[in-house]
Amino acid sequence: MTTGIVYDDIYLQHRIGTHVESHERLIVIMDFLNEKKVLEDSDFKLIKPRKATLEQIKYVHREGLIKEIQSVCELAEKTGRIQHIDMDTDASPMTYEASLYSVGGNLQAADEILNGNCKNAFALVRPPGHHSNSHKFSGFCIFNNIAITAEYLFREKNIKRIAIIDWDCHHGNGTQDIFFNGSKSDGELVMFNSHQDGRTLYPGSGFIGEIGTGKGKGKIINYPMPPRAADDVISLYFDEIIAPICNEFKPEFILISAGFDTHWTDELTMMGWTYQAPANYLKKIKTIAKEFANDRILITLEGGYEVDKQAKAVYNCLQVLNDKYDQLIEEKPKKSDKELLDYMNNKLIPKLKEILSPYWKCF
Ligand SMILES: [Zn+2]
Repeated sequence: MTTGIVYDDIYLQHRIGTHVESHERLIVIMDFLNEKKVLEDSDFKLIKPRKATLEQIKYVHREGLIKEIQSVCELAEKTGRIQHIDMDTDASPMTYEASLYSVGGNLQAADEILNGNCKNAFALVRPPGHHSNSHKFSGFCIFNNIAITAEYLFREKNIKRIAIIDWDCHHGNGTQDIFFNGSKSDGELVMFNSHQDGRTLYPGSGFIGEIGTGKGKGKIINYPMPPRAADDVISLYFDEIIAPICNEFKPEFILISAGFDTHWTDELTMMGWTYQAPANYLKKIKTIAKEFANDRILITLEGGYEVDKQAKAVYNCLQVLNDKYDQLIEEKPKKSDKELLDYMNNKLIPKLKEILSPYWKCF
């Protein structure tokens, strides 16, 4: 079987100085994949991205936002200075161009999966996207790559049901905003969002009561994790919430917003995951993809700032995508505190099931 890897040097051209969401993140990942000879293995295929069209960007974003990033990049070019879009989101002269390729890399990967050139894929792209919504760029993000990909699959590829799984440490508030009322197309979408509790981390949202409205009601599913939650807490989410809902929803395509800032050493966050945790989670997600989605999984890169750990975590995920078992295992205590597990098992999960029960027969 073939696993696609989207990458192009254009992603390094979104060059924003000493910003933590730096081009170095991708360089370290690609260096590590080369060191492990991943791209020499014929089971992996390098996918070159294309540019998304403006029509496709507008599936999700207002035209004014597209004009804003164009003019900010022109100003960066003219002044020779990095421009601040908001408190923590910056742009350089090539940011707009790189952003079109960041979306387009995901669209190209979706095509390669649908036409059978690869079974699944990982889009190693930047800038990331999950904090941007229809009318605002934020949280290091420009265009919302995963939301546009979902709309592309609905509108151009006749996919009817998509599950988005966002495991970045920060709540995927932009994607949630975009789909809070459901997709504007005919498609149905369910979004599973796990993140460090919003009371302790940017962007301060993603609580269990945020479940969507209208057509989207009951289809936004948030799982806030207390600081220091370890690998076991994400397994609980899958077993207790994601698996039963997906058995009922039967997604035809799974899109994953993969951030690697849940690692216990990441300086932006306070979680307790190892670098094998995302891959173990992905193994579980693959069982859903196998049963309902003809194995179709497309992962897109979001955050992750402890670059060496991130590279190992990405490598582990690629191994799982390709049914290989050369996992890099980190030896450290992997269990959450008993008190934390009790809170998840006895309070948060039962409450979440109760909130979702009007919308899902499984609860
Ligand atoms: Zn993040």
